Amino acid sequence: MHDSADEDQRPSDSRLVPRFADIATFMRLPLVRDPKEIDIAIVGAPCDLGAGNRAGARHGPRAIREMSSLVRRVHPVSHVAPYDLCRVADLGDSPVNQNDLMDSLDRMERFFAEVHAGGAVPLTAGGGHLITLPIMRAIADRSEPLGMVHFDAHSDTNDVYQGNVRYNNGTPFRRAVEEELLDPKRTIQIGIRGTLYSADELEYPTGVGMRVITIEEFHELGVEAVIAEALRIVGGGPCYVSFDIDAIDPCYAPATGTPEIGGLTSFESQQLIRGLDGLNIVGADLVEVAPPYDCANITSHLAASLMFELLCVLAPAVARR
Ligand code: MN
Ligand code: MN
Repeated sequence: MHDSADEDQRPSDSRLVPRFADIATFMRLPLVRDPKEIDIAIVGAPCDLGAGNRAGARHGPRAIREMSSLVRRVHPVSHVAPYDLCRVADLGDSPVNQNDLMDSLDRMERFFAEVHAGGAVPLTAGGGHLITLPIMRAIADRSEPLGMVHFDAHSDTNDVYQGNVRYNNGTPFRRAVEEELLDPKRTIQIGIRGTLYSADELEYPTGVGMRVITIEEFHELGVEAVIAEALRIVGGGPCYVSFDIDAIDPCYAPATGTPEIGGLTSFESQQLIRGLDGLNIVGADLVEVAPPYDCANITSHLAASLMFELLCVLAPAVARR
């Protein structure tokens, strides 16, 4: 890690260059194409094939880049300054094939494998939730599967759609368990709610050992206890943080494919992510922002802000390794 990051490796200072000026990269960082030059790669994965309802998350990375120009350099509570801890850059977008989901999954896996081989840890803006599967394929060590903190209204552990289609934004974490990328006993899902396909829908995740915290249980336990539970479940092993924006209530995050009422607030989401400091995080993503349904960019602004929250727990983890 760099103990003193270069000034030209940092986001441009919005006291000097207006935040609405110049080309929009994630967090106003430099665009770097070689993962070997950086420690944390902020990337886009503009694929929404596999959407169970309205599509549009392919436009997420660009909208989040645009709104991320409002984010400054230092965390307001922890005072973590991620750009002092690590070399961080916008690495551009993963290749995808908008005509072919399976080919997109292969292209994303190859891209993230290059990022991983180059020594950079990915912080990714989706895209739909299937993008997490090729990322896990690229970065998981089969001898020690990933733990996961998963924020979502949905468990995303369904088996098939249309009778035999195994790849859908509702299936990535069943596939990740089957492929032994993900350790279900070190996985916690937070914010689960919404109408079900069938009454036994959550039997799979709980049956394989995932800790499922519905929004009702979240409110019974409170933020502190849920954070403690997440830290206990995930433990000290490598873990991934996946944040589906639909974990948050549609009044804060209307622009998403499958909104569900009664969700987390923006502030609860910030508190929950802040509580993950100390975990051995090896990658994170923020998915399911579908800008065509947004109002005044509020969802992409929230997403950009939460990506900075994620960066401020990821950078200390990368710097400790
Ligand atoms: Mn999801
Ligand atoms: Mn969801």
